[in-house]
Amino acid sequence: MMDKNKYDYLIVGSGLFGATFAYFARKAGKRCLVIDKRSHLGGNVYCEQIPFPLGEGKGEACINVHKYGAHIFHTNNKEVWDFVNSLVEFNRYTNSPVANYKGELYNLPFNMNTFCQLWPDVHTPAEAKAKIAEQVNEAVMVINQQRQVKGLPLLTPSPSGEGWGEAFNLEEQALCLVGKDIFEKLIKEYTEKQWGRDCKDLPAFIIKRLPVRFVFDNNYFNDRYQGIPIGGYNVLINKLLEGVDTKTDCDFFAQSSIINQQSAITQANWRSIAKCLVYTGPIDEYFNYRLGRLDWRTVTFKTRVEDTPNYQGNAVINYTSHDEPYTRVIEHKHFEMFGQQVYDCPKTVISEEYPAEFNTSPTGGGRVGAEPYYPVNDDKNNALVAQYRALAHQQGILFPEDLNGCLTGETNGRGLEGRGEALFGGRLAEYKYYDMAPIIEQVMKLWLS
Ligand code: FAD
Ligand code: UDP
Repeated sequence: MMDKNKYDYLIVGSGLFGATFAYFARKAGKRCLVIDKRSHLGGNVYCEQIPFPLGEGKGEACINVHKYGAHIFHTNNKEVWDFVNSLVEFNRYTNSPVANYKGELYNLPFNMNTFCQLWPDVHTPAEAKAKIAEQVNEAVMVINQQRQVKGLPLLTPSPSGEGWGEAFNLEEQALCLVGKDIFEKLIKEYTEKQWGRDCKDLPAFIIKRLPVRFVFDNNYFNDRYQGIPIGGYNVLINKLLEGVDTKTDCDFFAQSSIINQQSAITQANWRSIAKCLVYTGPIDEYFNYRLGRLDWRTVTFKTRVEDTPNYQGNAVINYTSHDEPYTRVIEHKHFEMFGQQVYDCPKTVISEEYPAEFNTSPTGGGRVGAEPYYPVNDDKNNALVAQYRALAHQQGILFPEDLNGCLTGETNGRGLEGRGEALFGGRLAEYKYYDMAPIIEQVMKLWLS
């Protein structure tokens, strides 16, 4: 048996939340054990390394395959950027996806390149703005006719003069932002594939993530800093977890009767192993789904090696029509190989992404072999997660914002002890659509402010 209170924290989940928490906790002198039910560390940023010989006497090159979906690190926060770069150097990768709509190619995000490709009579920002304004005005008229019939408040111009009032759903938001042509060719069907729902049934905020620019700039992100860790994300995770005890293939919810009692670390016995719990798994699973199951979207990947050095000429191609059942094709080498390096490695690895519903039935478990990836933040699920959060609070469980950004105060001593016995954090435990940098920022705020 393990010593009582051997660890200060048992951290369930070795993704970026768990690993970053463990890093700062260790720096503060805390003893941590990180467990993960997967057979590797790193959560969704984990990469599988596939080696390819480079030819006689030239050694080999490794392609890092983003096993759980393409991950591009981006942030505006210099502290976060400096922190991750203090652990591993980042390369200059800039995400510039291309959209393929029925064989027509368009640059993303929506920018002057896209507008010129879509509308041959558009060559200048003024012409693009006029075209979009014309299409947006037409769309607003149609939306208002529909709202009038339903007795809903009409869209009016925003007080700033830029854009329109509150969109009720993703379709309205997209039409008010870019008009009909872009919505129909680049948004509607991609979004339906991605979310498995009509654009009218999805929240508007999802589409606010996509920039619209009147300059010739294909950089998908507006953030100042962007890149991929040189050597892949595993290097970052290994650095975060340096000196921390870890255990893989260890499910917090496993039934002790079916696993080796000696090594079991579960919900039933964690208090005998650690003083506090940091939990980054799904919030509904922690409570054994007693209030019902939250919906998630998942993605499955079909990955294959192609016998060519350069398959699609870009890391990310989005397929924006229903003609293809997948949403994206990722060519992993382009995240880390540039110029001649692409051709030095004679083969390439590509992954097609197939979105799907995670829950296979209201009472049954998740899709076998799939992961819960994207929270579905519609009204039903938001209400359910609010109930789960209330339940968590009743049990003295904290969320990052409850700690007011601080585990460093002197009153109760440094750390979680004395503040709560458990902290829930990350994409699954908070049921929030977080990117990587905000997760790291959140943990840094807890420990460093
Ligand atoms: P996770 O990485 O999911 O880690 C949670 C861990 O907990 C997992 O390893 C899981 O196995 C473990 N776990 C769960 N339950 C248990 C249990 N019962 N017992 C033991 N272990 C358990 N962000 C970006 O900034 N840029 C991108 O380009 C980007 N692309 C993305 C693409 C996809 C397809 C997805 C899904 C996400 C993407 N993200 C991206 C977001 C990014 O993945 C997350 O912000 C980040 O990984 C969240 O870290 P986390 O620790 O909260 O969750
Ligand atoms: N989207 C779209 N067309 C595209 C790419 C994205 O309509 O070619 C929409 C889609 O609804 C998606 C959202 O924009 O869910 C956010 O896309 P992003 O690529 O930022 O999300 P990710 O899947 O990478 O988290």
